[in-house]
Amino acid sequence: MSPGNPVTGGAERCTLCAEPPVIRLPEPDRHLCAAHLIADVEERAALTIQERELIKPHDRIAVAFSGGKDSTALLLILTRLLPAWEDVSLVAITVDEGIAGYRDDTIRAAEEVTKKLRIEHVCISFTDLIGDDLDTLLIGRETQACSVCGILRRKALLVAAHKAGATKIATGHNLDDEAQSVLMNTLRGDLPRLVRTSDADSSGCFIPRIKPLADISEKEIAAYLFVQDMFPFLPECPYTRYALRLEVRSMLSALEQKHPGTMRNLMKSKRAIEKHVDPGAISEPLRRCRECGDPCSGELCQVCMLRKSLGK
Ligand code: SF4
Ligand code: ZN
Repeated sequence: MSPGNPVTGGAERCTLCAEPPVIRLPEPDRHLCAAHLIADVEERAALTIQERELIKPHDRIAVAFSGGKDSTALLLILTRLLPAWEDVSLVAITVDEGIAGYRDDTIRAAEEVTKKLRIEHVCISFTDLIGDDLDTLLIGRETQACSVCGILRRKALLVAAHKAGATKIATGHNLDDEAQSVLMNTLRGDLPRLVRTSDADSSGCFIPRIKPLADISEKEIAAYLFVQDMFPFLPECPYTRYALRLEVRSMLSALEQKHPGTMRNLMKSKRAIEKHVDPGAISEPLRRCRECGDPCSGELCQVCMLRKSLGK
């Protein structure tokens, strides 16, 4: 790499060996070559799993696998770490929301990756779940795309994971996603969501969710895949433009660039708040939906409320 390269901060050698660096990382400040970047990312994911006890012997992990970069990295990392656990199996689940010009490409990419990694792969569609695809459900209500999509995707994942006999659902949320959620929940004044434990729904009614990449930044994940020729170049969802997350994302990226460590500091603040707030004291007690029996906080679960509003 040439001196002055903004990606590597001008260093000519990896901090750990004589190879040229491909990335500069903060805290601690280091320049890593491709091999050391791969090792660093995989070690940190393993550490997150170990410290938060995310995976136990005999777990069957359903990986929420969109075919995008985060879930591709997650699947690759879990496949490599798999021998470290006793009798743990993986199944990749792809949810087909039914978004024209976007989802077909990502499903194809997902099929290629699971074939290459020899991972069992199942698909579930919104049409299977609710009788229509997302594009049809959103006619006249496009600005609500991400909330409708999020509610149905969570349910679809749960249904498919349950069917596949999964004991955990792993998602590819990275440090940027987590920091964005902290800021979004703060902006919305949603304290219960802000302090909801990051690692798993521990209500006993859901399949617990785990986020093994929660401490790894989007930049590191992109570079991790790129140096292994596994970066998926895919179209962006056409509804992204309606998402509040998009504004928060660009604001946080700008702050992170100017003040490295901003995202990690946001996560530190969240953990500090979590220690002082009892989620049970500020959340509605868990009940059963009177329509479908799923656990929820009100009379109806979000899916049944959505069904009603869609006239389904
Ligand atoms: Fe769904 Fe919104 Fe993501 Fe598109 S951007 S896949 S609509 S959550
Ligand atoms: Zn319900």
